[in-house]
Amino acid sequence: MINRRKFILQSAASIAGVTLAGNAFANILVHKKKEKLGVALVGLGYYAAEILAPALQLAEHCYLAGIVTGNPEKAEKWKEKYNIPDKNIYDYQNFNSIANNPDIDIIYVVLPNSLHKEFTVRGAKAGKHIFCEKPMAMNAAECKIMIDACNMNKVKLAIGYRMQHEPNMKKIIQFRKDLTYGKIIKVEANAGFQGYSEKEKDIWRLKKNLGGGAMYDMGVYSLNGARQSIGLEPTAVTATASTTRPTLFSEVDETMAFNIEFPNGIVAACQTSFGKNMNDLNVTCEKGWYKLNPMQHYSGVKGITSDGIKIDFPIKNQQTKQMDDDALSIINGTAMLVPGEEGMKDMVVVDAIYKSAAEKKRIVI
Ligand code: NAD
Repeated sequence: MINRRKFILQSAASIAGVTLAGNAFANILVHKKKEKLGVALVGLGYYAAEILAPALQLAEHCYLAGIVTGNPEKAEKWKEKYNIPDKNIYDYQNFNSIANNPDIDIIYVVLPNSLHKEFTVRGAKAGKHIFCEKPMAMNAAECKIMIDACNMNKVKLAIGYRMQHEPNMKKIIQFRKDLTYGKIIKVEANAGFQGYSEKEKDIWRLKKNLGGGAMYDMGVYSLNGARQSIGLEPTAVTATASTTRPTLFSEVDETMAFNIEFPNGIVAACQTSFGKNMNDLNVTCEKGWYKLNPMQHYSGVKGITSDGIKIDFPIKNQQTKQMDDDALSIINGTAMLVPGEEGMKDMVVVDAIYKSAAEKKRIVI
């Protein structure tokens, strides 16, 4: 008896022997044979160390196989903690040689936003699949370069929007698809936190050239939440940037208020901030409403509908689910739930939001 998976493998191998050669196909074959894919985290800051590495310990379809860091002390600590062999430890200079390492199937870019493009393109050229953190890049033009690089090298690209893998957000998307509460009339989406002091004035999130600012960091949750709950593409935006701490926020936005116009007259009123705690998504429809609050907390997302139904599906670990879903897509050769194209759609709007705030006028997309 030959199952479907074995059949695909055998067919692929025989085709490879006869007609195909080269790294890209070799990679596809390797992934087809593996049950669990090796991930190399690039950039070992807060998110990689505190959230992604522990989440990888729980994953079924991928595991922490390697690291890329500019800090030898960190490398040593990670090596001990996670039992990572020396041959799977890279720095930013020798990173390209990861192409020759069969243990690494996926590069996960967890660097400051301004470096997402460079390491996605270098990872793709090394023949590795890419997971890239949100926001995908600094602008839509960079996103296009990243998507093209992945297509050219026949590798997959997934953006780290954990919320689209989360069951409560999925329920919101399902309400929209099923028109459970009728047509959507308006959406409000807010994501921000009260953070940063003068002591932290040198961090990259406050530097323009490194991709700092609330809009890039938290605003994409409001924006993506609005786009996903409405299911249409924005046609225009009107945005206002403001700050109550002009010395600290001399380069980047502390707060951004932005109205996104969608077809059919739907408007999403969104906010994001590094100066205010907010975390909610509210959808008003013709026949009722539903909301998530919190909309994007790591430890859980919860909501309720106008008829009192609780939206409270459990999830063990959002990042494990996201990475397992994406690894399975690679193993099975299926489409990524959040591909580069989705990250780019947000960046088209982010470009328009920054333009609107700078020019103080409505921008048609
Ligand atoms: P961080 O500052 O804690 O870590 C950044 C890492 O990049 C550090 O290890 C730093 O040494 C390294 N680095 C390399 N080159 C650098 C340079 N030129 N300047 C500054 N640092 C440099 O940041 P983080 O919170 O881990 O965020 C990293 C990425 O992850 C960002 O894109 C962020 O948006 C994303 N993120 C996503 C989520 C999520 O829920 N999906 C949560 C947090 C962060």
